[in-house]
Amino acid sequence: MENEKKQTEERSLNFIEQIVEKDLAEGVNNGRIQTRFPPEPNGYLHIGHVKAICMDFGIAEKYNGVCNLRFDDTNPVKEDTEYVETIERDIRWLGFKWGRIFYASDYFEQLYDLAIRFIKEGKAYVDEQTAEQIAEQKGTPTEPGVASPFRDRPVEENLRLFEAMQRGEIEEGKMVLRAKIDMANPNMHFRDPIIYRIITSHPHHRTGHRWNVYPMYDFAHGQSDYFEGVTHSICTLEFEVHRPLYDWFIDQFSGKNFCGLSPYGPDYRPKQREFNRLNITYTVMSKRKMLQLVKEGLVAGWDDPRMPTVCGLRRRGYTPTAIRSFMDRIGYTKVEGMIDQGLLEHTVREDLKEKAPRVCAIFDPVKLVITNYEGEGETIIAENIDGIGHLGTREMRFGRELWIERGDFLEEADNKFYRLSPGGREVRLKSSYIIQATGCEKDGNGNITTVYATYDPASKSGTEGGNRKTKATINWVECSSALDAEVRLYDRLFAVENPSAEEGDFRDLLNPDSLKVVTAKVEGSLRKEMKSYSDSALTAERSNNEVVDMSHYQLLKQGYFVVDPDTTADHLVLNRTCSLKDNYLK
Ligand code: ATP
Ligand code: MG
Repeated sequence: MENEKKQTEERSLNFIEQIVEKDLAEGVNNGRIQTRFPPEPNGYLHIGHVKAICMDFGIAEKYNGVCNLRFDDTNPVKEDTEYVETIERDIRWLGFKWGRIFYASDYFEQLYDLAIRFIKEGKAYVDEQTAEQIAEQKGTPTEPGVASPFRDRPVEENLRLFEAMQRGEIEEGKMVLRAKIDMANPNMHFRDPIIYRIITSHPHHRTGHRWNVYPMYDFAHGQSDYFEGVTHSICTLEFEVHRPLYDWFIDQFSGKNFCGLSPYGPDYRPKQREFNRLNITYTVMSKRKMLQLVKEGLVAGWDDPRMPTVCGLRRRGYTPTAIRSFMDRIGYTKVEGMIDQGLLEHTVREDLKEKAPRVCAIFDPVKLVITNYEGEGETIIAENIDGIGHLGTREMRFGRELWIERGDFLEEADNKFYRLSPGGREVRLKSSYIIQATGCEKDGNGNITTVYATYDPASKSGTEGGNRKTKATINWVECSSALDAEVRLYDRLFAVENPSAEEGDFRDLLNPDSLKVVTAKVEGSLRKEMKSYSDSALTAERSNNEVVDMSHYQLLKQGYFVVDPDTTADHLVLNRTCSLKDNYLK
């Protein structure tokens, strides 16, 4: 029994957790577990990054380790503090806590010194060829590359030129520093990789104009891991081919060779591990493409609710719980694949099912007049989620004039139509009375303007007569208390399943119907949402991009919605998170 339970637990470990447990059992790194999440601050986090975040932070949480945040800021051309701030906010919102914050730029001095040392040891040279020439000489996996004519430059000359590069005396693009490794190595990454390049055109967002040369990824990442004491450097599969080079650079510098740069002893080594990237249907997962959509105004911004960014998902109404549960379900493997967007929607639907109060909203309203209703109107107490007590009740205004859905009335209906139609059908108004349609009024074009009905005063829900069954229940909103809401109906951003796999321009594949806006009549109980947006303290928090709780609702029969921050004291905006229909399980 105990054994069986243990086995189940073991089976549910992902392969990285298995590696970590094995390392712990063998006492590797004295049982120390340290990970890092290393975003480049050149764009907003997307849901693909969240997969990495859940892994990096998850391992640290589970095994009493620490996960640091490290900004991989080695390319000042594309990076900015704006991105640093939003990345931090998004991680906080997801519910993760980092240990310390590091920047690759913290190590520019040390990395520069290592480069100098490399040059002095004859392991690096300054190449004056163009990037294209260097690429042409790389060879193919089966053919060796061609050595650069600058490969055997004397050490002194390399030193002099590299220092001139750093002093800003060499024009951008005119020279690079390459590691002198092996132009015939079957792993192309060993064919004298570029380790430093000149960037003088852009100041760095942290170091300003201090540097004119910047380290490349392969020369910065492993070393940064090493300086910090990372034990498990987890990344996506495309870095698997970089791993031998990652290890090679660390071997060049680590142990007794590393001039005391690591406090973790001569045997300490960070180990890189790779898992499969997240790809989701009907969207793109590349910061470059997202930036293009934002810059060209094809979406409303990074936080457009159609974007796969964390802030977009948040604005769409996704919850951290749903996003994290999605990551649990898809798991981590070594096999690249495409995840059905329906699964993401399924997880948010499951989360909101128990959390989102129900309210009535009428999307295509027509007026209903209850001709035998006397008096000023009344208050109806409705359960926030039918049958689940935990969200309590709310007050709904009821009266003689109501908005109902146009589609809920047919002037002439066959006997398969159970909703309103003259001729004796009984229909219940949600949470209130039973009515029968008696007729309608039309305008000159034949469009129905008003539906007439009578009600049964003895049929009120919650009273004895409330138990009487009808074949249909319809939604309604009382006219004098109704609010107009701008409802943004979002759909998938792209019209094709895998825009990245198609020929041609990905922008031509955008779904032209990804946003429809309707004005709906919603119940007055939503007025409190507008009030919250007239609260200046909350508004300040929102504009500071601080995390504010979102208000989720299920608009009955329509789907799950969230209050959008465009809401003001007199204008309510709701975003559709997802419809009610779940196609995923089919
Ligand atoms: P992009 O290609 O969109 O620019 P990136 O990989 O360059 O993304 P980084 O900021 O370098 O973005 O990524 C930080 C971390 O997030 C890396 O460890 C990377 O492996 C991981 N990551 C990025 N995209 C995905 C994804 N789609 N699925 C899983 N992890 C990802
Ligand atoms: Mg990257």
